[in-house]
Amino acid sequence: MDGSNRVENGRDKNPAKGWCSGLSWRCGMTRPIASVWYKAPKWGEKRDGKEGLRFDRTARPMPLPGDWSSLARGLLRFGKWCGDKQHSPPPLWSPIEMVPGETWCKAVNVAWVHCLVMDYDDGTTIKDAHGRWEPWEHVLHTSWSHGPGTPKVRVVLPLIEPVAAEEWRDVYTQVLRWDAERSGMSEADAAEAGLRADRACKDPSRMFYVPALGKHGHDAGHVSRWHGAQDGEDARPWLCLHDMRMAAKALEAAQAAAMERRRAESRARARDVVGSRDDAGAEVRRRLMEDGSARLRLGEQLGGRVIQRQAEQVVKGVQCPGCGRPSLWWIVEPVALRRAVCDHQNSCGYRGLLWEVAAAAGLVLS
Ligand SMILES: [Zn+2]
Repeated sequence: MDGSNRVENGRDKNPAKGWCSGLSWRCGMTRPIASVWYKAPKWGEKRDGKEGLRFDRTARPMPLPGDWSSLARGLLRFGKWCGDKQHSPPPLWSPIEMVPGETWCKAVNVAWVHCLVMDYDDGTTIKDAHGRWEPWEHVLHTSWSHGPGTPKVRVVLPLIEPVAAEEWRDVYTQVLRWDAERSGMSEADAAEAGLRADRACKDPSRMFYVPALGKHGHDAGHVSRWHGAQDGEDARPWLCLHDMRMAAKALEAAQAAAMERRRAESRARARDVVGSRDDAGAEVRRRLMEDGSARLRLGEQLGGRVIQRQAEQVVKGVQCPGCGRPSLWWIVEPVALRRAVCDHQNSCGYRGLLWEVAAAAGLVLS
């Protein structure tokens, strides 16, 4: 599907008919929703030599017409696959649009996510799951392991505007928080109570089994329901995740600002130490560059632990002056790498000399 469809059919063509901030009027039942499907995995020997399900992640275009109505109708039917999933696995699908030219489904090859999928596997009932998403158009169906007394519910909501795959993780994180809060709980409490949706759906390349009779076959008490266009009631608006995207961006900016503040503080502390350019200070700095026992002692003082990594001892688990996480490490007896390095190369990337680390932690060196 090319981008022009998306723009053409994106946010309200007729704003007079709709409203936003959470609720957006959909443009019509035939708005294109991109989704792909995958062949059922096959049982056999995997790359690691063990037996298991081998997944073919080649994303295939959905048969025409590829709009929400056909996807929704497809999600209402439970396929014949049942019993042991290992030997009778259903095919899979994803509500995504691939990067043009790419067919192998992995996160970097996904361009857009077109539906929010919420998997409730820990005890959320069908009624509760439906209640949470009642204001919006959705299809709800029970999933593979659903059975009497063990509700497993999936809710699929078409998005008024697709979300760029690179934003999806952060947006989904916000959705989980919002979803818990709407039921009157913090996300932590919802997780504790087993009522939070599955976090694995943060992955934009997540594949979902099509609805199937599943583990318990005809005895499972499966339910599927298209809430919206098929209701006969007033049609439902499609979900708009604009607010979630803005919240994710605000959080990212706040985290970057906090990181920058910590770095400025740590630079200022390091300057104070260098400011006292006496011989004792210089000696301490030299030892922290060269002397393994001094480097080991500093690690202990800062709450790190010592591990053996191949031939070298490494101090790990010290609080990083860059990001504040316990992810700083350094080699005890340095040969090439004398600096301390943060494990989070992408999100933090801190590297510093040990006396700077000590100064950042407010340690008086002597
Ligand atoms: Zn860090």
